[in-house]
Amino acid sequence: MLKRKINPQDATKIKKYFDECKNVVVFTHTSPDGDAIGSSLALKEYLQRKGKNVSVIVPNVFPDFLKWMNESDKIVLYDRQRAFANNLINMADLVCCLDFNMLSRIDELEACVRRSAARKILIDHHLGPDHFADIIISCPECSSTCELLFRVFEAIGGLSNLSLHGAEDLYAGMCTDTGGFTYNSNDPDIFMIIAELLRKGIDKDIIYRRLFNTYTLDRYRLMGYILHEKLVQIQDLHASYFCVSREELKRFNFLKGDMEGVVNMPLAIRGQKLSISLREDTEKPVVWISVRSYDDFSARELAERFFNGGGHFNAAGGHIDGTIEEAEEVCKKAIEAYREQLMDK
Ligand code: 5GP
Ligand code: MN
Repeated sequence: MLKRKINPQDATKIKKYFDECKNVVVFTHTSPDGDAIGSSLALKEYLQRKGKNVSVIVPNVFPDFLKWMNESDKIVLYDRQRAFANNLINMADLVCCLDFNMLSRIDELEACVRRSAARKILIDHHLGPDHFADIIISCPECSSTCELLFRVFEAIGGLSNLSLHGAEDLYAGMCTDTGGFTYNSNDPDIFMIIAELLRKGIDKDIIYRRLFNTYTLDRYRLMGYILHEKLVQIQDLHASYFCVSREELKRFNFLKGDMEGVVNMPLAIRGQKLSISLREDTEKPVVWISVRSYDDFSARELAERFFNGGGHFNAAGGHIDGTIEEAEEVCKKAIEAYREQLMDK
């Protein structure tokens, strides 16, 4: 038995919406990750098996390592298929928003959601959801939206309708949002859910390989270059940062996603508490920043204070408008500002 995270009134209402709908659109956030795509496709699969017409619409392109998922080729990219998407949105009588808390996270799709007269459901695990939906299932203590969606299926008595493909999608999202169950994943419920997904027939070892062991040689070399040449370790503070310029990215034929997860690597250094990555945009005068931390050091607070950003407690991000050199100065100040907290006590 899973702990109850969804109240019965909400479950009843969702069941009613799922039963009564005919044409559904599922939205997820800009630059969708594994949890965003996994939850969206799992919900699509689930509702299709109930005989509904369902389309997943995302603001922009998603990474190649998610393209093994069933029907990922049918995902509509709003920045490329606007007219087609608008037509689907106009026809929809149910809009499901997954893995984002604020409409600003879906860029131009925000206006579409606001305009739509359809019923709206939000299912998400980020803090502080906007109140734009008729039903809001918000669970910040859940590891992923995929975990939460599983709980929704369970709460509405729908697990028998979860297919193998749906189970694979959910596992992929849970796995990516927890770094292969290496963080944010101490809730025993997570492993009860995985047991259920395994009973549906998923091969978790193959899914892991498809998600994580998919580097191009260029990406692998870029990672090596960063660790060897670029990493700045502040030994007494158990903290590190690295800056990667536009030119360096070009040298390694940078593709979107190639820097994903690199910020986690310095946390493998013994005793490390904080890792910051600074990546210059390949076109605009912006530096994108990722912050990762261990234990009681708040990556979110640092990202909010210094990098115009936010995120989760141990995994956050932000940006600096300016050059990589300017961003590096901000980064050094940010680390110094936490000297007390980072130093050995
Ligand atoms: P990443 O470093 O992978 O880009 O982001 C890590 C986490 O921080 C993600 O959960 C992401 O949603 C959040 N995040 C990244 N950038 C921002 C930002 O500018 N603002 C806020 N509020 N969250 C961010
Ligand atoms: Mn997520």
